[in-house]
Amino acid sequence: MLAEIITIGDELLIGQVIDTNSAFISQTLNSIGASIYQITSVQDDRAHLLQAFKDAESRVDIIIITGGLGPTKDDITKKTIAEYFDDTLVRDASVTKNIEDIWKKYVRQTLLQVNKDQALVPSTATVLMNELGTAPGMWLDKGDKTFVSLPGVPFEMKKLLVSKVIPKLKDKYKFPYILHKTLLTYGLGESTLAKRIEAWEDALPSTVKLAYMPNLGSVRLRLSSKGENQKEVEQNIEEQIQKVLPLIEDAFVGFEDEAKSLEVIIANRLTKLGKTLAIAESCTGGNVAEQFTQNAGASSYFNGGVVTYATESKIKVLGVPKKLIEKHSVVSAEVVEAMAKNVRDLFNADYGVATTGNAGPSKGDSDVEVGTVFIAVASKDAVVSEAFMLGSARKRVIKKAVNKALEMLEK
Ligand code: ATP
Ligand code: MG
Repeated sequence: MLAEIITIGDELLIGQVIDTNSAFISQTLNSIGASIYQITSVQDDRAHLLQAFKDAESRVDIIIITGGLGPTKDDITKKTIAEYFDDTLVRDASVTKNIEDIWKKYVRQTLLQVNKDQALVPSTATVLMNELGTAPGMWLDKGDKTFVSLPGVPFEMKKLLVSKVIPKLKDKYKFPYILHKTLLTYGLGESTLAKRIEAWEDALPSTVKLAYMPNLGSVRLRLSSKGENQKEVEQNIEEQIQKVLPLIEDAFVGFEDEAKSLEVIIANRLTKLGKTLAIAESCTGGNVAEQFTQNAGASSYFNGGVVTYATESKIKVLGVPKKLIEKHSVVSAEVVEAMAKNVRDLFNADYGVATTGNAGPSKGDSDVEVGTVFIAVASKDAVVSEAFMLGSARKRVIKKAVNKALEMLEK
């Protein structure tokens, strides 16, 4: 079953708004077995819209449209859909009531004619009531094909898609079963990983597709399979996972759906063991700590952290000996190890993690080369550190350092 997404709005084409609607719709449709054939963004222009509808209809069964349903003159989606369907706009009583209710409850200004006119819908459309906004969703059948028009506002669109559109699509069409399984790996570059699993990849059956998704020190491997029979699809994927896992054992940390990311895996492990963590950061500026605190429940294992950015703070807050810094440089194995040990003591934690480095673009407090980062992990009995060369783009150095820190902690 094929679908296309058409997002409408001048704002998308000048880059003012990023088209997140398509990503959400793709994911949601994919999860019920529909494949997205194409995603198109079109400006608020009648001729362009008509052409886009026609092209999409010639290719696929399901066409999902978002945006351009507002009350202002620049929003022309509804008019143009009516024209495309050779239909007229009629006033829908339930939408009128919804608009009046919303106005009474939230807006409390005079209801203008343009607002009332949001209740106009093509006469052959089924209204998908939008309780969160004034622009209704619309469902139009064209034989076996389906057009769905949804408001552009993401949270309105999502609600309508999930609660109204998906159930109706499942009623109308029979979808195949699609399964994606994503393996999360850290520490191997994309090409190294590819080399490792080359023979396996070459021998993959046509029923299983593989995709690499690299991101700053972590690579996600996605296996996908599709078919009529759920059991068979699951078996196809499972078979390949059993084959590939032994090849990437040292880099594999979990499946994405079970543990979204490395920090979640670490968090779960710490919670289970009843162990705690403290973090001292320099060049990563709190980003490592943020990886943990962004997830609920962090207080059960994360005792706290400090950002000791200036050399002076490393001495004053963490008690790193001044002599040690003078002797080895503030960006050194010795200093990062002292930071990890001391932050562990400071917060009375089981593990201490520390980062220090030079994220660039120019040399700062130290003499080391831009992109050099030292990371240490300390436990009660031991401390280990590693040096990394993470390149010269500041933000990427920081992000990579965060991933490296997580990776070291995981080990
Ligand atoms: P409303 O009646 O609520 O205005 P609408 O259908 O007219 O709904 P638009 O005017 O096209 O929606 O868009 C409203 C807002 O929704 C835009 O300003 C933009 O912030 C957001 N939006 C629109 N399209 C998208 C999209 N494809 N991805 C993400 N956000 C979007
Ligand atoms: Mg608009």
